[in-house]
Amino acid sequence: MERYVCGVCGYVYDPESGDPTSGIEPGIPFADLPYSWVCPICGASRDMFAPEGAGMQQFSL
Ligand SMILES: [Zn+2]
Repeated sequence: MERYVCGVCGYVYDPESGDPTSGIEPGIPFADLPYSWVCPICGASRDMFAPEGAGMQQFSL
């Protein structure tokens, strides 16, 4: 499952870990989080999250 990164503070939502702070159990995909869910660190809404790796420059070394 894909991890999502908060565009405000950099918090990473990992579906394999869930979000115990918000009562989200492990195994919940980001897409299945309740609409009321916000970043546990900075309180940003789901809209502020992007899939990990998206929008980042990938440099081929
Ligand atoms: Zn955040």
